[in-house]
Amino acid sequence: MTTIGHLINGEMVTDGDRTQDVFNPATGEAEKKVLLASKQTVEQAIASAEAAFPEWRNTPAIKRARVMFRFKELLEENADHICKLIGQEHGKISHDAAGELQRGIENVEFACGAPQLLKGEHSRNVGPNIDSWSEFQPLGVVAGITPFNFPAMVPMWMFPLAIVCGNTFVLKPSERDPSSTLYIAQLLKEAGLPDGVMNVVNGDKEAVDTLLTDQRIKAVSFVGSTPIAEYIYATANANGKRCQALGGAKNHAIVMPDADMDNAVNQLLGAAFGSSGERCMALSVAVAVGDEAGDALVAKMQNAMTGLSVGAYDNASNDFGPVITCQHKDKVNGFITSAEQQGATVVVDGRNPKVAGYDNGYFVGATLIDGVTPEMDSYKAEIFGPVLQVVRVKTMQEAMKLIDDHEYGNGTCIFTRDGEAARYFSDHIQVGMVGINVPLPVPVAYHSFGGWKRSLFGDLHAYGPDGVRFYTKRKTITQRWPSSGVREGVSFAFPS
Ligand code: NAD
Repeated sequence: MTTIGHLINGEMVTDGDRTQDVFNPATGEAEKKVLLASKQTVEQAIASAEAAFPEWRNTPAIKRARVMFRFKELLEENADHICKLIGQEHGKISHDAAGELQRGIENVEFACGAPQLLKGEHSRNVGPNIDSWSEFQPLGVVAGITPFNFPAMVPMWMFPLAIVCGNTFVLKPSERDPSSTLYIAQLLKEAGLPDGVMNVVNGDKEAVDTLLTDQRIKAVSFVGSTPIAEYIYATANANGKRCQALGGAKNHAIVMPDADMDNAVNQLLGAAFGSSGERCMALSVAVAVGDEAGDALVAKMQNAMTGLSVGAYDNASNDFGPVITCQHKDKVNGFITSAEQQGATVVVDGRNPKVAGYDNGYFVGATLIDGVTPEMDSYKAEIFGPVLQVVRVKTMQEAMKLIDDHEYGNGTCIFTRDGEAARYFSDHIQVGMVGINVPLPVPVAYHSFGGWKRSLFGDLHAYGPDGVRFYTKRKTITQRWPSSGVREGVSFAFPS
């Protein structure tokens, strides 16, 4: 059985005795093992990143960007292999993996603009013969800790930008599907990145805690569930590190009475069930305004869902794949059962679907639940499965209050033909990423990604302009070259 190791100082490291099985969620088979790094192994990776920093920091930004140009080409040349690795361990269908990879590549493209992104600000003659400028310097060794649901894209929200900004990096990917992440990192060496600039340690809490407490790590980017995000943010801060920790979500779509219902249904299908609902931007709640809209939505959804197919990653005719683990399948099924027990109506029941040839896979079929109310457990929690819940309200204000009252504030969307309503919604809603007739408003690489409330801990969002600020620190220099022979008098007043 293959054992997945670590990438430290440009070499694969396979020492260590703690391992965890990596499953193919479509078959339920443990096909590989991943090493779980010890504290010492993580310290080795940090030491390698620290040693690489002085030279990398002083490498001209244009040369750092050139590595990313080549890296982008390698990602494209090896896209099929990367998508296969994602499919085997995460379970997402090849077309969905290709979309994930493309969004990751766009972050590499953004990072290619490093010389422009790192330009400072300059003011001449801020005082007599005094010039002042601000520049953006790298932090040093920075760390990334990433979730299972986007093993290619989310790491690429982090390391391309961190590295072109002049930092060196230690990445701790999800131990559930580490192969595509590790493979991508290996391509960086082929792209010309010096050894030690990018390191990958696989592991669990022991590895994470080492990154959070080691004084050589200057900043931590985290993406994952909210309880862990909160822990990461508190621990990183307590250890004097800059931190951005992106957490979970419960994304609502408001369906207004005037919406183009067929369009809304098509958009909701992909946004609720794509990637088995295992997206932090998945739309998991549809809030129908008015009974007429609610009835039409549920009837049309039910009809459209009969055509959906769940299955293994390598059959492109499947719409979505299994969920990540057997335990997660049980958890998703448990939420469907609890909604039913608490009074909701399961209109389309995806529990325990039959998938020919994959009897032991972790499949949950597309599920539609009507009559959900805010008190229900299934409404409060992030289910992270292919489950769309319908809540019925009377007014748009009521729909917006529901969204604002929810602990999460990652993404949201309104389906409407009314520009005034859409503008009011986007202006007032307490959510970080808003779609207007756009179900998954994931910002492109040259904007920044982040939720509000308990979906993000920290000040700066991920990637884009905020990413550049996160991975650099501002230094402001004020300079005077006195003419020879001219001496300034002593002054005790504050310079003005
Ligand atoms: P997770 O929180 O279980 O794991 C994320 C990372 O944290 C992994 O690398 C894991 O090894 C590590 N980790 C887990 N438990 C830990 C602990 N006790 N101490 C230290 N480290 C620990 O998340 P997941 O299940 O891999 O991913 C799904 C979650 O991620 C969902 O909640 C989803 O909404 C969220 N997510 C959020 C975004 C976003 O941008 N807001 C994007 C993708 C995923």
